[in-house]
Amino acid sequence: MKTLVVAEHVRGQLRPISLELITAAKSLGGPVELAVIGADPASFADALNVEGVDEILTVKVDRDEFESDVYQQVVEHLIAERSPRVVLLGFTVNSMGYAPALAAKLGTGFASDVFALRDEGGQLVAERSFYGAKVNGEIDFPGHERVIALVRATAWPPAEGAGSATMTDVAVETTASRTRHTNWVEVQAGDVDITTCDFLLSVGRGIGDKENLEQFEELADSMGAVISSSRPLVDAGWMPSARQVGQSGKTVKPKVYLALGISGAVQHLAGMKTSGTIIAVNTDPEAAIFNVAHYGAVADLFEVAEELEKLY
Ligand SMILES: Cc1cc2nc3c(=O)[nH]c(=O)nc-3n(C[C@H](O)[C@H](O)[C@H](O)COP(=O)(O)OP(=O)(O)OC[C@H]3O[C@@H](n4cnc5c(N)ncnc54)[C@H](O)[C@@H]3O)c2cc1C
Repeated sequence: MKTLVVAEHVRGQLRPISLELITAAKSLGGPVELAVIGADPASFADALNVEGVDEILTVKVDRDEFESDVYQQVVEHLIAERSPRVVLLGFTVNSMGYAPALAAKLGTGFASDVFALRDEGGQLVAERSFYGAKVNGEIDFPGHERVIALVRATAWPPAEGAGSATMTDVAVETTASRTRHTNWVEVQAGDVDITTCDFLLSVGRGIGDKENLEQFEELADSMGAVISSSRPLVDAGWMPSARQVGQSGKTVKPKVYLALGISGAVQHLAGMKTSGTIIAVNTDPEAAIFNVAHYGAVADLFEVAEELEKLY
């Protein structure tokens, strides 16, 4: 299936989803064309020239940063010019700003938050969750010759290996944008992006009290981990929202996810179940977190923390 991938970048950095989209596109059998849009799109070409990409389309626009209606016009132009069967974008705030509108305008099939895709006899089938991630379902697109799909971050591994894509500059006339990016609001000083961490120590309501948080922050520090949490701790104002893992928080995929006192509600699992190694500590042997954990201890988290403190 001919697939057009739209790369994402922010402040001069390629977003990891761009390479994950390439892996997803490759799984559909190709050819794979990749569009990169920006003031200096060629600066991303080397990083995007990985195995499996047939052609990189660089589209120069007079915007350094993402603008929803500029991207919409460019992607609409590329769809008309290139006729891809499938268009893959990240399931990100940026794409959500214009891809549904584009799908409605062009009358294409559409699916968001997709974590699996396959070509079934020439028809695209996508998988996503429904009802607050309680069930997974398959979507097909009868009657649609084209589908725009927004892909969940971390659902596919990033593409790698040197590529041999051809480079093509594509000129697209865009009308004046109705919006203009003006500035960035920095995250709270000292805060980190938990989606890029290798080792997360995640705490849940099992820690009992806000006063106990400090102990786990110190433990995370000494273990070389970054602290994250389930939602109730954020709702209670104990943790900043940037540290929340789950459906309404961040989707993370660290090498190690250590869950202390987290029950494993579907909304939490939606954000961490693809982590490399999941270790869970919970006093309840029936806790759902054990269904996704590679290692589990039915134990009091404070006792486990005490033992870990002796080691680190
Ligand atoms: C629309 C929607 C979106 C949501 N989004 C998110 C989200 O993004 N992220 C998220 O996390 N949740 C989310 N939730 C909430 C979710 O449903 C759960 O309520 C939440 O994940 C529970 O958090 P928890 O596991 O910390 O708490 P609990 O479910 O209360 O679990 C606490 C666990 O700690 C264990 N425990 C208690 N004491 C100890 C001890 N001393 N030692 C060891 N274990 C102990 C208990 O056995 C229990 O399993 C969402 C809900 C909705 C409806």
